Amino acid sequence: MGNTNQHVETVARRKLNVGPDWRVFSWEFVRPDNFLVEGCVPSTDLLGKVKWDGKPSKTVVTRGERDAELARFEAETGKCGWCCGDGLEFKSWDHKTGTEHRPCRNCGGTGERINPEVSHASVEATP
Ligand SMILES: [Zn+2]
Repeated sequence: MGNTNQHVETVARRKLNVGPDWRVFSWEFVRPDNFLVEGCVPSTDLLGKVKWDGKPSKTVVTRGERDAELARFEAETGKCGWCCGDGLEFKSWDHKTGTEHRPCRNCGGTGERINPEVSHASVEATP
């Protein structure tokens, strides 16, 4: 299940100059438009349980940086940047029923990148 948090994590890794193993373990929304994220490189014990015992580091990611990363993801992959191509977005969470999803409102559940310029151009090119 992808979502835009993935893009915040990608920006945070770049700003902290850490590798793809670095994972966010704490999120905080900071007014007016920033995400304060903290994470580390977790390890996995013999039972496969994730342990967040790496050296923690934190950074602030702005909404603008998140949006730029989302656009870069779409250009690179051709997938919808809001659901990261799986066509689903978060709907709700309940301790009894778990996480519920609904079709992504950006791409209508297709997982395809929505780009008005590209679709417009392809319509014009159609005989
Ligand atoms: Zn989508």
